[in-house]
Amino acid sequence: MAYIQFLGAAGTVTGSKHLINISGDSTGKRGLQVLIDCGLFQGQKEWRERNWQDTPVPAREIDYVILTHAHLDHSGWIPRLVKEGFSGKVFCTPSTLDLCAILLPDSGHLQEEDAEFANRKKTSKHSPALPLYTEAEAHDCLRYFSPLDFGEARQLAPELSFRFVRSAHILGASMVEVTVTTGGSSRRMLFTGDIGRVRNVRSNPGKVVHAGPAEGEQADLLVMESTYGSRSHPSADPRPELARLVRNAVKRGGSVVVPAFAVERTQKFLFLLKELMEAGDIPRVPIYADSPMAIKAVDIFLKHTEEFSQDTKNLIARYGSPLEWAGFHFATDVESSKKINDSRYPCVIVSSSGMVTGGRIQHHLMQRLPDPRNLVLFIGFQAPGTRGFTIKSGAPEVKIFGQIIPIRAQVAALEQFSDHADTPELLSWLRTFPRPPETTYLVHGEPQASAQLRDAMQKELGWNVEVAEYMEKVEA
Ligand SMILES: [Zn+2]
Repeated sequence: MAYIQFLGAAGTVTGSKHLINISGDSTGKRGLQVLIDCGLFQGQKEWRERNWQDTPVPAREIDYVILTHAHLDHSGWIPRLVKEGFSGKVFCTPSTLDLCAILLPDSGHLQEEDAEFANRKKTSKHSPALPLYTEAEAHDCLRYFSPLDFGEARQLAPELSFRFVRSAHILGASMVEVTVTTGGSSRRMLFTGDIGRVRNVRSNPGKVVHAGPAEGEQADLLVMESTYGSRSHPSADPRPELARLVRNAVKRGGSVVVPAFAVERTQKFLFLLKELMEAGDIPRVPIYADSPMAIKAVDIFLKHTEEFSQDTKNLIARYGSPLEWAGFHFATDVESSKKINDSRYPCVIVSSSGMVTGGRIQHHLMQRLPDPRNLVLFIGFQAPGTRGFTIKSGAPEVKIFGQIIPIRAQVAALEQFSDHADTPELLSWLRTFPRPPETTYLVHGEPQASAQLRDAMQKELGWNVEVAEYMEKVEA
């Protein structure tokens, strides 16, 4: 008997956690428990509060974590799991491990800052407010990580083996093929993690990893993301529009503030700005990458050339490391970040977090949102409940650090930079399966997006598809 329980990213796009439980073997031990991803809930309070709840099975009884990629909504609860008693191995690809080594401690740091802020301003009903985990605890959990190359099979127990295959979402991102053998028969489960785009270089420039998720996958049971289950990405080249937006803001004497994940999205965006600047399409204003991880992220990005697309290889061959580019500045400490804040001349500021849920971007937006000369440019998905979502959806004001900030700056969004396949791309990827899975469970989507993708898959492919519910247990 084996079951899967959806402990997160069901009914929402964050908090990915799927528990595989293979119970009651002949020795009478409790059986094997493997968690696919262990992400933070982000966004609406109702979901964030679940970060404080215990797992339905004790953390110490979970044997392994298999991690699809480094984004915090997939990895950010691992330090908490360790804090609660988990002491097994965390498997991930080598580049995912490198990324987690900067992302998780940074997440711990942000948790500490939030708790400290809540205590100072008495904004929490808890006294004292505590961090979910600290930077030190996040560092400590890295000793449980064990890298495994793409394609290499690993037998975790007689009844379970797995391997990583490419999902082309971000650097290191993988799907997990799990083979469960019980009672003499084997079944294959595929957990997609986040699925990257089948890229068209023109409409989606700057792709880091090889184009497209692994094709021809086979599974008896598929657990698949549905972030863009109700949408198609624009097919136009975003560069002319991007150049126009930047030029106009600079002409007005304004600056451009871009909330972006510090890892991958920021590097990709810097390459685009460099290209546009070299082509004379945007003025040579200072570009600031403002994140404590800015330099380390570039180093990791440049280290894993094995995952680059030809496009990215060409760009790096032409321009070298972004750390050396004239006019590009990488702010890692708080002092240099404050200097950017004080700058009164037009510039471009790329800072995290990407959905304005924390981090230095909050300071930049507090400073620049009230001035109509400025431009706030979104280049990533904004989950409902986040400040990014509020700003992007045209609200007249937003609360940052407990203050109401009027939004008078121009707000624009370019959707082409998404690292998620849209509905047509998902369907064309699914058509590469040689046979339909018995059941597909959709996770990692807002309810309406998941439902729409379910309907499309039933209609276009004739597959048996269900939308996973939070805490639901299904037979594996
Ligand atoms: Zn992701």
